[in-house]
Amino acid sequence: MSQSENQKFSTIAIHAGQEFDPTTGAVIPPIYQTSTYVQDGIGGLRGGYEYSRGGNPTRTSLETMLAALEGGKHGLSFASGLAAEDSLLRAVLKPGDHVVLGNDVYGGTHRLINRVHGAWGVRNTTVEMSDLAAVEAAIIPGETKILWVETPSNPLMKISDIAGLVEVGHRHGVLVVVDNTFASPALQQPLAFGADVVVHSTTKYLGGHSDVIGGGLVINDDELAEKTKFIQFAAGPVSAPLDAWLTVRGIKTLAVRMERHSSNALAIARYLETHPAIEKVYYPGLESHPGHELAASQMSAFGGMLSLAFRGGESAARLFAESMHLFQLAESLGGVESLVNYPSEMTHASVRGTELEVATNIVRLSVGIEDLDDLLADLAQALPAS
Ligand SMILES: *Cc1c(COP(=O)(O)O)cnc(C)c1O
Repeated sequence: MSQSENQKFSTIAIHAGQEFDPTTGAVIPPIYQTSTYVQDGIGGLRGGYEYSRGGNPTRTSLETMLAALEGGKHGLSFASGLAAEDSLLRAVLKPGDHVVLGNDVYGGTHRLINRVHGAWGVRNTTVEMSDLAAVEAAIIPGETKILWVETPSNPLMKISDIAGLVEVGHRHGVLVVVDNTFASPALQQPLAFGADVVVHSTTKYLGGHSDVIGGGLVINDDELAEKTKFIQFAAGPVSAPLDAWLTVRGIKTLAVRMERHSSNALAIARYLETHPAIEKVYYPGLESHPGHELAASQMSAFGGMLSLAFRGGESAARLFAESMHLFQLAESLGGVESLVNYPSEMTHASVRGTELEVATNIVRLSVGIEDLDDLLADLAQALPAS
């Protein structure tokens, strides 16, 4: 099916880059499980493909899809979310440069910037991203090259003002990068607010079925896209054909999945908010959340991620996390199945002892798309009787 200018998101998520196979008519483009391509005479490439580190049609179909979902120009698909981040950082930064990032960014992002790029002379400052004045104060004119934004953030679901951060960043010539993993483009499209680059761990909502690790970038600027593609080609962190194909397959149901993730999570947040064992629920869809109005202005729904703080401290949090059946105890998020995570020892263990440390009474839920009543029943049996 051909792309028309004004197709809506649900249509794009099914059709962008997914033309049927011209040789057989197969509705689903095949998995091009190949490393190399026959040349019709030296340099005579059929369709531009030479070697699959440089390009593969299945990867291209995902890259076209990623760009279309975020409303951007260039999509790039990687072996993991962190591989995508690493290639972007290497394309933009040189030793001595400075990065400003949220004080609650994904732990792996902090580790990559702080320990891997830090070893090559890249400096960073972590800051409260929801405080525009604090962000501006952290920018070192001429030296800060990247403002790294994550909204909603993990695990406390803080909301940052994308348009406001773009205004601050661009005033100082800083590239604004938004990790859109938690919201997904079905709910939030950062490029429309002026961001320069969108990052995804496609492992999460885009793939959506907890069966593949992958990452993506969407970049509008031609030169930056070219530089990042060069790093990807030169260093090789590409997604494999089967991984790219599985991710596209997942994306086709993204719009409907995000509706259900969001409605289930909102109902669960409301239920937990009234439970006496719970001190606080962190979910941007709740009116009590400090970022609620901002979230409502830049997201079309509030997503499937929420965290809760237990009045009973660490022991109550641990007991709850280990007492659920439908919510399986596992890292990661964004799949159709519900998961429970104990951040301070699981996803956020790498940031213990830093200012990114997560309190020991916090539990994070990735609310899946199962039947809401079954999820509520599982929560109720895992909470102390009130
Ligand atoms: C998981 C995640 C990443 C890293 O992605 P991988 O695919 O695990 O490499 C980056 N950012 C966020 C917000 C994530 O949740």
